[in-house]
Amino acid sequence: MSMPDLLQKADRERMKIRIDETAGFCFGVVRTINIAEDRLKSNEKKRNTYVLGSIIHNPKEIDRLENEGLSTITHEDFERIASEGAELIVRAHGEPPSTFQRADNLGLDLVDATCPLVTGLQNRVKRFYDKGFQIVIYGKANHPEVIGIRGTIADDCIIVSGVEEAKDKVTLDKQTVLFSQTTMEKPVYKEIKELLSKRVSELVEGGDTKDLFHAKNTLCKEVWGREQKVLEFARENDIVIFVAGRNSSNGKSLFKHMQSENQNMHYIEDAQEMQQSWFEGVQNVGITGATSTPLWYLKKVKDRIVEINLLISP
Ligand code: SF4
Repeated sequence: MSMPDLLQKADRERMKIRIDETAGFCFGVVRTINIAEDRLKSNEKKRNTYVLGSIIHNPKEIDRLENEGLSTITHEDFERIASEGAELIVRAHGEPPSTFQRADNLGLDLVDATCPLVTGLQNRVKRFYDKGFQIVIYGKANHPEVIGIRGTIADDCIIVSGVEEAKDKVTLDKQTVLFSQTTMEKPVYKEIKELLSKRVSELVEGGDTKDLFHAKNTLCKEVWGREQKVLEFARENDIVIFVAGRNSSNGKSLFKHMQSENQNMHYIEDAQEMQQSWFEGVQNVGITGATSTPLWYLKKVKDRIVEINLLISP
């Protein structure tokens, strides 16, 4: 073996592969999955157990639970599963009150596994609405969590997905309160808050604004608490493999955030997407993911990188 080959081989053997210690499910998702697993195990009446919409934005975890007997349905399937006498789990994102009402009318057994933080957010929005406030929500209009919130106030709210929309869509002609979908970006939330706060101050020309505008930071601490930690992880590694479902809001947001510290990042959903060329000459590989990415799958990704590393020609 030539000297360059030996050096390359030595590099390859020195490659360190580390899973982010802070990665794994958030407590809301752990709780939902535990509820689903309990229902599947303790289903004495042998009823079918369903979940309304994907239980989590992660196809690997969905496959695992489907193998245990959990099936995913949509609102269109309500009548069919009610006639079976099945039970239906509401996932962490929550649902609007109309869903609970419809299930009740059909005699369908609902198991509410909504994250307590989401339930708390729905209740807070409703309280302000009932007091006559205009509700502004920083979020994605069609995200299931936002659909649930909108449903608590008969859709009478303004949804903004960023600062520009806040500029265009929000008129401050009545008492207003700003909330956020739990998984949105903290810097954008702060910008929207500052924009609206400044506008209200201009309207009252230096008068007291505290009764006119409230901003409630309802971003989930499990999400933005991780943002600082993942930045450090991004800095510590030459390359980061970020594992999350393609439709995970939290995944997209964390990935973008980490790219500010490390451009050498790859977003994958499946371990088979990784390419050998990504790891050539690399010494420190980091593996992390969204709050919906299971740890067991991060371990599989690590095993796959070990295999790839062995294939890199010396
Ligand atoms: S990200 Fe936060 S709000 Fe969303 S399910 Fe997890 S703990 Fe609950």
